[in-house]
Order: sequence, then C-alpha cells, then structure tokens
Amino acid sequence: MSRGRVLIVGGGQGGFQVASSLRDEGFDGPIAIIGEEPGVPYQRPPLSKAYLMGKVSEDQIRLRPASFYESRTIELFAPERAVRIARDLRQVELESGRHLDYEHLVLATGARPRGIRVAGAELDGVFTLRGLADAEAIRTQLESATNITIIGAGFIGLEIASVARAMGVNTHIIDFAERPLKRSVSAKTADFLTEAHATQGTQFHFKTAIVEITGAGGRVTGVATSNGRHLPADLVVIGIGVEPSVELARDAGLKIDNGIVVDQQLLTADQSISAIGDCAQYPTDFFPHPIRIESVQNAVDHARCVAARLAGKAVPYRKVPWFWSDQGQYKLQIAGVAQEGDDAVLRGDMASGRFSVFRFRAGRLSCVESVNQAADHLAARKLIEKSAPLTPELVSDPAVSLNQLAA
Ligand SMILES: Cc1cc2nc3c(=O)[nH]c(=O)nc-3n(C[C@H](O)[C@H](O)[C@H](O)COP(=O)(O)OP(=O)(O)OC[C@H]3O[C@@H](n4cnc5c(N)ncnc54)[C@H](O)[C@@H]3O)c2cc1C
Repeated sequence: MSRGRVLIVGGGQGGFQVASSLRDEGFDGPIAIIGEEPGVPYQRPPLSKAYLMGKVSEDQIRLRPASFYESRTIELFAPERAVRIARDLRQVELESGRHLDYEHLVLATGARPRGIRVAGAELDGVFTLRGLADAEAIRTQLESATNITIIGAGFIGLEIASVARAMGVNTHIIDFAERPLKRSVSAKTADFLTEAHATQGTQFHFKTAIVEITGAGGRVTGVATSNGRHLPADLVVIGIGVEPSVELARDAGLKIDNGIVVDQQLLTADQSISAIGDCAQYPTDFFPHPIRIESVQNAVDHARCVAARLAGKAVPYRKVPWFWSDQGQYKLQIAGVAQEGDDAVLRGDMASGRFSVFRFRAGRLSCVESVNQAADHLAARKLIEKSAPLTPELVSDPAVSLNQLAA
C-alpha cells in the first residue's frame, strides 16, 4: 500500500516502535520521527539499573543502531522539538521553524518528572531521572558520593537506592506515605521490599516531608525533614512521579484528562491523530475507568496496535498491562492494575524471597505482584486476560498449577 506520511512526535520507546512496526506491517509510505533528545531512540529502564551502575554503555541501550533508520527509510529529526500542531493544515511546526505535513500523526511524547516546590530544589547536585543525560550526571556524582538522599519511594527511587547501595553510598529515602509504592503494590509486597532494602543498608524515612534542601556555595549539602532531622547528601534525586507531556495536544484543542484522551483504537477525537504510551489515557477492560500507564509493555503494545490500524488491520487495544522493576537481587513483576483496597492473597513463602501476591477486586483477579517468580507472572497475564474464575483459596494453594488454570 502507498500512503501519505505518518509523522511521529516523540523518539522514545513508543515512537520508535510505531515506525518499526509500520515497516513490519508492510507500510511503504513515508515515516518520520521528531525527537527532542539527541541521537537515536534508546531504552529508559537501564537508566536506573545497569546503565546507572556502569554495566552497560550508551550504545548497548539504543533500541536500534542509526543504520536501522536508514535501511528502513525512517526519517529521524533529532534533536528537534515539535512546538505546534496545525490540525487544519495537517502540519506540525518544529522549533527550528520547519513545517512537516502528515496524513496521520502519532503523539508519543511520554512524560516528564514532577518537580518539587521546596527551597533548595535548584541547587547543583539535585536531580530528576528521565533521560540519558540525567542518568549520566547521576552516575558521575554517585562515583564519588558518600551520601545520597532520594525523595520518593517509588519504583525509580527504589531502583536508584539499590544501585547506590551496591556502589557503597549511604542511602536515605524520604516519602510522606507510610510505605513504598503506595499506589502500585499491596502492603505485603511493599513490606517485603522495605525489609529487603533496609537489610542492604537503605534507611527509610516514611511519613516524612522535606522542609528544605540545604546547600553551600550553590551546591547541595543535605535535606532538612519535617521531623527535625538533617540528612547530609552529596546528591539528591527527586523521584515523585511524572506528568504526561500533553501541551502539544492541549494547544491543538484535543481533550486532556490524566493524559491525552484516546478511545479503544488509541485515536483522539481527531481521526488523523493517535496518542500512545506514557502520554495517553485510554479505556481498558482491566480497570474500572480509563487509565494512563507508564511501562515499556504499554508503549510497545500501543505502538503495535496503532501501526496495525494504519496498515489496514484495525483491532481495539486489549492488552493486559504488565511491568517489571529490578531492585538488587529482586525482580518484581506486575501483571494487571490494582487499586488501593483490592484484597491481597499470598502464594508462596515470603521468607524464601520468591512469592506472588494475588489481588482481587469484587471477586475478580485484578493484579498479580510476583517477586522472583517469573512463572507465576507469565501465568498471571493469561489468567487476567481470560478473566479466569479464581478464588483466593485456589491461588494460595501451592498444589494448584497456575498454568493449568490459565490453559
Ligand atoms: C529511569 C526509568 C526507568 C524505567 N524502568 C522501567 C522498567 O523497569 N520497566 C518498565 O516497564 N518501564 C520502565 N520505565 C518506563 C518506560 O521507560 C516508559 O514507560 C516508556 O519509555 C514510555 O515510552 P513513551 O514512548 O511513551 O515515552 P518516552 O520513552 O518517554 O519517549 C517520549 C519522547 O518524546 C520526546 N518528546 C516529548 N515532547 C516532544 C516534542 N514536543 N517534540 C519532540 N520530542 C518530544 C521526549 O523527549 C522523549 O524522548 C522506566 C522509565 C524511566 C525514566
């Protein structure tokens, strides 16, 4: 088939995948990616894991080498920022003043870290982590640091803590919740991870707020907390979540909620504009209301769904969300999406460091959190997809095979 240009804004996980999958689907029209970061698209997960630790290089985290884009005739405009969508003209304006037209526009603009409004947030040595440049800067500081304070006990905060401890840096994590990953995992899993990190030497300060980030000569020296302590720090990382990058869509008059609002085809109300990945809020069978998910799986599967539609094979998006996080010796894998208050049923023995927590909402399996239990995780994805009729008694019985239930 021969078509007009598919223009993709955002050269991250989702943007790359749309372009790649379009070619896999046999789309032979022009494809262009506009990406504000320099270089070719790369994977973000290693930025808080192996890359931060210095175990993999920049080249190793690139999704594909530069030659891939040439050989598949995918134009890459990077670093270039898209500043405006002219929907009437079907054009995108770039910061450089250039205009690119499209037949279909895919917004894959991702998300950016939330800032913190506290005195000292602007000091040298205070970071957020989203891109390669951030990871590079944090890694350099970690190499000579004695103390790090991480604000926010979310996935990124816990992963950075694992790396920092492994590098011998004294590590403090502050969070105003009473446990880590409050919105993402059950208290059972959170308590296990707290213990695991504490055993490795990370010091948690829960139910604690930051009063000030202190400094001297423009450089961070520590963090003053609401319970009157001063934690010395050579660097501070703020990991309090992200905000979807929606301003292009908003300025173009598209609907925004907790992300760019799309339907089950991942289309906005403008049938020539899709939105995918971290920036998109979509309806799903697996949660009571539309969701926005920040994960590689979500960005990749969204991208594949849009590419298939643009290649003439439209199907509604219906994938079970899943996610992983590496924290020291523990791999946490999550299938489905839980809500606070979902019941939590243990399968396995937490003391062995290998277990799963099955979450139930209104008698239906909503989510499974697995720690070092990859087989449970794979079965869980199928069980959730099939809406398999399960009971807490069934899943907690180690003699019951999850694979058989999923089959
Ligand atoms: C440190 C870190 C660790 C992570 N670890 C995991 C993990 O272990 N497991 C997991 O599943 N997920 C993980 N994630 C999340 C995962 O990386 C994201 O969900 C995924 O990258 C989302 O893909 P995306 O394409 O939607 O957005 P992104 O990959 O963020 O790409 C969006 C791109 O669009 C660009 N952009 C935005 N606006 C414009 C514009 N106007 N013009 C041009 N370009 C623009 C941005 O600069 C960015 O390059 C991690 C994320 C981070 C930051």
